[in-house]
Amino acid sequence: MSDIEHSAIERRLQAGPVVVVGFGVSGEAAVRLLLHVAEDAEVRVNDGRPREAFDGEIVAHFEGQGVRFFFGGHTDAVFEGAGTVVLSPGVPSLEAVERARSAGAEVIGEIELALRYVRGPVVAVTGTNGKSTVVGLLSAMAWAARLPHFLGGNFGIPLSEGVRAMADVGGEGLYILELSSFQLETVRGLGAKVAAILNITEDHADRYEDFAAYGAAKARIFAKADRCVVPASDPVVNGFIDAGAAAGAAGVHRFGAGGEVFAEGDELVDATSGQRIARTSLRLVGAHNALNACAAMLIARLAGLSETAIAQGIADFEGLPHRMALVGDVKGVAFIDDSKATNVGAAVASIRSLGGRPFVLIAGGRDKDGDLSELREAASNARAVVLLGEAAARFADALSGAVPLKRVDSLEAAVTGAFELAEAGDAVLLAPACSSYDMFDSYVQRGEAFADAVRALEAL
Ligand code: ADP
Repeated sequence: MSDIEHSAIERRLQAGPVVVVGFGVSGEAAVRLLLHVAEDAEVRVNDGRPREAFDGEIVAHFEGQGVRFFFGGHTDAVFEGAGTVVLSPGVPSLEAVERARSAGAEVIGEIELALRYVRGPVVAVTGTNGKSTVVGLLSAMAWAARLPHFLGGNFGIPLSEGVRAMADVGGEGLYILELSSFQLETVRGLGAKVAAILNITEDHADRYEDFAAYGAAKARIFAKADRCVVPASDPVVNGFIDAGAAAGAAGVHRFGAGGEVFAEGDELVDATSGQRIARTSLRLVGAHNALNACAAMLIARLAGLSETAIAQGIADFEGLPHRMALVGDVKGVAFIDDSKATNVGAAVASIRSLGGRPFVLIAGGRDKDGDLSELREAASNARAVVLLGEAAARFADALSGAVPLKRVDSLEAAVTGAFELAEAGDAVLLAPACSSYDMFDSYVQRGEAFADAVRALEAL
């Protein structure tokens, strides 16, 4: 970025107080970045939750640096005279923010704020499912290439933290970003060197008015991108390309059957570079993960990584917790934690990756109100389905007649119930097709509770 553009940003930040809305992980990171890059700016923080909901020491630390906090609501007074408003992902549209916008404030997201200070090339990945796996693979490839890089965004560390950390290497390494549709809503010209959409299936029907609005948010990833990566066989994503989402890009590249990089027999093949990697060197199960690896190979090549680094990264990557992780084996029954399968498409991919092994499915949680017909079809091969959480009743309606059902009140009861229904050689698969928020803080906590329940069963 030129110094002229930079000073324009500084001027903008000086134009009036900067209000960071939402004091979660990315909101806090945004505040730290602002204190770092715009020392003279007046920084305000606003969160709907009461002061007691936050760590007093952290709040006091920032107050000591001149930050002003406004808790417990979003009044107009908070936004009085604001020059810039920084929204955390997940903050819904707020009337007070809209009024601030009308009064002349620039409203941006945490990612957009941080992007203005990014110096190195950006590789950005979005999609309904597989994002973390693909960026994890890309990071393993960058490690293999000994390339300084930052891995984060929606996954793990906020970009605002990354910008500060990358300052140590002159800010010029590779930025590997996982971006959610919520984050993309407030991104303008991302300008990625390589931008990828892995797939779009229904998710967050509870937040978006319709499927098109959800997809349109994701398509923003292509704004000003140099290279665009899309799945060869996904009609929705290719529809965006046909409608001009990648206009101005140097090229659109496709992965999967019919594309440049695909799985063929027992190999992952890059037909453009000629590279072939044995399927067995990838340690992740399922056709969906072979596809994820193809996407990562293509993105990495376009980002300029060597074939050696690409092959090494594929072989090094061990997978992420709570994605098809084997957490225990009790009397010949394998317990698989796929707590991260928080939507129907993910749960269906995971069921298919069992490759015909008999299984008992544990599903349910906070319902995302999506269509369940694909789940009904995939679950009809199960020995039984154990249902829990807020979604249990709707799921029971949708699955009834296709497969034996059992309803339970807790994850512990789901584990013992599934074990009773399973036979030696079966898998018990936790793939909820729902978010965890009805009973847990996150999918991580849900996966850990599952593993604990399996250990308790082992100890009996
Ligand atoms: P994300 O970061 O997009 O949530 P993850 O890599 O964490 O994606 O995978 C989440 C879940 O999505 C996995 O547990 C698996 O059930 C499913 N999944 C992963 N990759 C794919 C894919 N390419 N297509 C469909 N489902 C997938």
